[in-house]
Amino acid sequence: MSKLQCDFCGTNDSNENPIISGDKACICQACVSAAHEIMDHTKEESSNPSNLPVLREEVKLLTPKELKSILDDYIIGQNKAKKVLSVAVYNHYKRIFRKDEIEEGIEINKSNVLLIGPTGSGKTLLAQTISKFLDVPLAIADATSLTEAGYVGDDVENVITRLLQAANGDVKKAETGIIFIDEIDKIARMSENRSITRDVSGEGVQQAMLKIIEGATVNVPAKGGRKHPGQDAIQVDTTNILFICGGAFDGLEDLIKKKQGGNTLGFNQGLSTRKDGEELLSLVEADDLVKYGLIPELIGRLHMIATLNEISLDDMVHILTEPKNALIKQYQQLFSMDGVILDFEEDALKEIAKKAIDRKTGARGLRSILEEIMLDIMFDLPDYKGKTITITKEVVLDDKLPNIA
Ligand code: ADP
Repeated sequence: MSKLQCDFCGTNDSNENPIISGDKACICQACVSAAHEIMDHTKEESSNPSNLPVLREEVKLLTPKELKSILDDYIIGQNKAKKVLSVAVYNHYKRIFRKDEIEEGIEINKSNVLLIGPTGSGKTLLAQTISKFLDVPLAIADATSLTEAGYVGDDVENVITRLLQAANGDVKKAETGIIFIDEIDKIARMSENRSITRDVSGEGVQQAMLKIIEGATVNVPAKGGRKHPGQDAIQVDTTNILFICGGAFDGLEDLIKKKQGGNTLGFNQGLSTRKDGEELLSLVEADDLVKYGLIPELIGRLHMIATLNEISLDDMVHILTEPKNALIKQYQQLFSMDGVILDFEEDALKEIAKKAIDRKTGARGLRSILEEIMLDIMFDLPDYKGKTITITKEVVLDDKLPNIA
C-alpha cells in the first residue's frame, strides 16, 4: 500500500483521491481542486476591486416592462402581481449592481416581495420564471418544513444550501439569487382574532427567517462537495438575496372586512362573491397581516405586497393553450414527433378546466387531468402516424375514444 500522504489535509493516497508528489511536498486531488477554486475567487475579486457583485448582462438589461412582458409569455392573468414583481426585481438588482451610483448617506432598502393568492394561482411560477430569465439561482422552500429547529439555525441553513446547489456551488451567484418561501401564512402565530391550530412555534420560525431576510452570514456545510482543507463550512452572505414569500392567507379577507366596518352590517357577513373577496384582499395592509399572525418585523421586510386571483374557468382554458410552454402545446409537440396532429375541441378544453376547478388545486390540477385523459392515446401513439386525433368533450367526460381521421 502506498504511504504517500497529502501535506495539506493529511489524506492517504487512494484511487478516488490520488496524490501528486513533488520534490518536497505532496498534495491530493481534492486539495488541488480546492486550491484552484480559491485562486479563481481571488482572481475574480482582484479584477473587481470595488467588491461589487459581478454584473451579468441579462440582469442589467431587463427593465420592469421587459420583465413583465416575459412574465406575460408564461403566466396568464395576475397582472398586478406581475407588475409588482417586475418593479421589485428591477429595483433589487439596480440596488445591488449599481451600488456605486447611490449617493452617500442614502441607503436603499431591499424590496422583498409577499405574494398572497390561492394555491395553484401562479406564485411559484412567477418566481421560477423570473429566476430563469435573469439567470439567477432559485431555491424553493416550504415555510411549514422549517420547524422550530429553524430557530437554532439548522433548517434555515438548508434553504441557503439549496440555493448554493442551484448556483452550482458559486457563492457569489448564490449571494444574489432568489429564495421563494411558500406557505408563509401557515407559520402565523396564534392571535386572538383567529383560531388556528398551530402552536406558537410559528413565531420562532418567523424569527429565524427574519434573520436571513435581514441579511446574515450563514455557514453552509460544504455537503456533497469537496471539503476545503481545514474548513467544512462555506460562508454565504444573505444581504443581497431577494426573498419572495407566498401564501394563501385563508380568511384574511374577513379580517380586512372587519377593519372596514363590515362587521356592523348584521348577520349576513359572508362575502357575497369571490370577486368581493379578491377586491378586499387587494386592499391588504401591513397591520392586517400582523393581525393574521405574522410578526411586524417580518412584514417590515416584505415591502412589496401583491395579491393573485383565483384562476377562473376562462383563465384555466387560456393556461391550457396560451403560455409559451402551455400543456396542450407540449402534447401537440409530442404527437407531432410521431407524425400525428393533435386537436382539442373548445368544449373539451372547457370540461378539463371545470375538472381542475372541482379539484380546488388551482391550475396545478390541469396536468394530472390531462395525463389521465391522454394515457391510452399516448400508449398507441406510434400506430397513428399520419392521422389527426381530435379530443372531444366525450373523451374528457365519458372516457370515450377520440376521433381519429
Ligand atoms: P402556487 O400559487 O400554489 O405557487 P404554482 O405557481 O406552483 O402555484 O402553480 C402550479 C402550476 O399551475 C404551475 O406550474 C403552472 O403550470 C400552472 N399555473 C398556475 N397559475 C398559472 C397562471 N396564472 N398562468 C399559467 N400557468 C399557471
